[in-house]
Amino acid sequence: MRRAALALLGLALASLLGNPSFAQSAARKAATEAAARTAAAAPTAATAEQGPPPVLLSREALAAAIGVREMGLRSEESYQLLEELTTEVGQRFAGTAGDRAGVAWAVKKLQDLGFANVRTQEVIVPRWIRGEASFDVLAPYPTSMVTLAIGGSIGTADEGLEAPIVMVQDIAALQALPEGTVRGKIVFFNGRTERTRDGSGYGKAVRSRTEGPSVAGSLGAVGVVIRSIGTSKNRIAHTGTLSYNVSAPRIPAVAISNPDADALERQIAQTRPEGKAAGQQVTVRMRVTSRDLPQVRSANVIGDIPGTDLADEIVLIGAHLDTWDVGHGVQDDGAGVAIAIAAARAAASVNPKPRRTLRVVLFANEEFGLSGAARYPADEGDESVAKHAFAMEADLGDGPVWKLGGRVPEQYWPAIDQMQKVVRSLDVELGDNTAGGGADLGPLRRLGVPVIAPQLDATTYFDIHHTVNDTLDQIDLAHLRQSTAVFAVAAYAAAMLDGPVPRLSPEQAR
Ligand SMILES: [Zn+2]
Repeated sequence: MRRAALALLGLALASLLGNPSFAQSAARKAATEAAARTAAAAPTAATAEQGPPPVLLSREALAAAIGVREMGLRSEESYQLLEELTTEVGQRFAGTAGDRAGVAWAVKKLQDLGFANVRTQEVIVPRWIRGEASFDVLAPYPTSMVTLAIGGSIGTADEGLEAPIVMVQDIAALQALPEGTVRGKIVFFNGRTERTRDGSGYGKAVRSRTEGPSVAGSLGAVGVVIRSIGTSKNRIAHTGTLSYNVSAPRIPAVAISNPDADALERQIAQTRPEGKAAGQQVTVRMRVTSRDLPQVRSANVIGDIPGTDLADEIVLIGAHLDTWDVGHGVQDDGAGVAIAIAAARAAASVNPKPRRTLRVVLFANEEFGLSGAARYPADEGDESVAKHAFAMEADLGDGPVWKLGGRVPEQYWPAIDQMQKVVRSLDVELGDNTAGGGADLGPLRRLGVPVIAPQLDATTYFDIHHTVNDTLDQIDLAHLRQSTAVFAVAAYAAAMLDGPVPRLSPEQAR
């Protein structure tokens, strides 16, 4: 009976997909694997006390998930969405006219695509004006360098700030210097960003930008310049936010391009005892006209695709709508916006329909303070947060997804394994159960909401993000389709699993 039902389902899928042999064999294979796993995972008398039994996808849901994968892979929608957002709106930095245009675009788009309950959630965001920045070496060899103010930096005096440079690799090296070394000086953080698939190179390097200015300020420095926290060898600077510590003096901070940082490093080398400029100091002038304005209104944009028998529960697919102010915000995070919307629609395109409600949340102001992420659960209320069965987020460019992990209650981990099997043919590895889920999911995860984490390949992402080069031409259509397919499978599967889905333990939620 089951075999017959499966065969019929395979045929139905095959006609849907127009690829009979592939769809049938894939559906059979996945269902067979699932059955084998169910048998293997069935608790025995000896292990029954060790934990709740695994929650697995049904054969029917697994077969439908293959259909979702194929819909996602063939979909042009994610690219169309990204092209529209880029062309019709462009940069969407928090509090700007572009930000407001992005919110309006997203509301209309979700409505036009038939999402239910499309709404905005007001978010108050800081407003920072970049202004202009310049960075000139005055001695020993005068030259001008390509620079950008770091997001949130205060401005310098109108005539700029002139001081000798002290070069360090990172915050630890700065703190190890003898007391007084950087007083009245400009600290140059010269640490390089390592190119990594999982983005960990950026994570390590970025502290010089976020915390470096306050550490330097507390040691008496008057300014900070950093080597761009990015992997591009082009002569472009990379911006991003800093975080002033309330107890430290605020000092201005800029980033110079990687080739300019190399040049500055070479000038500093010449001032060493054996160098041609031995005994001299490297002196620079930096000038920044950045300033803060009063806070303004922005919004999270939310739309639902209602579920069936578990419609009261939510699978959240998130991305952030805001961008930095220098490029068009395509890889960061227009791609995530496009993936989230297109994945939800692909997941809802098969039968059986998703049991839980698929909710797309486009967060406000991730880049300059995570304002929308903080607002979302606060606005939802405790009871509603408890209805979030799973959450996932796309915020690392167009992909492809190379690993599927999560942070879920133990009994749901075997289902992540099942999901990975469905997308294994797309070169997706199985991750582990310690994934963070992404910056905008932090508040939800800390409230115990389980996260599923399709991890986007970040190998080339940090060549582009937060720079003038974050433009549509950098998108790889095949990557975008693959990522859409994997997110769609994960969203569909998350919507089909039996519940109720317990909250993460306090240790897991951290
Ligand atoms: Zn981002």
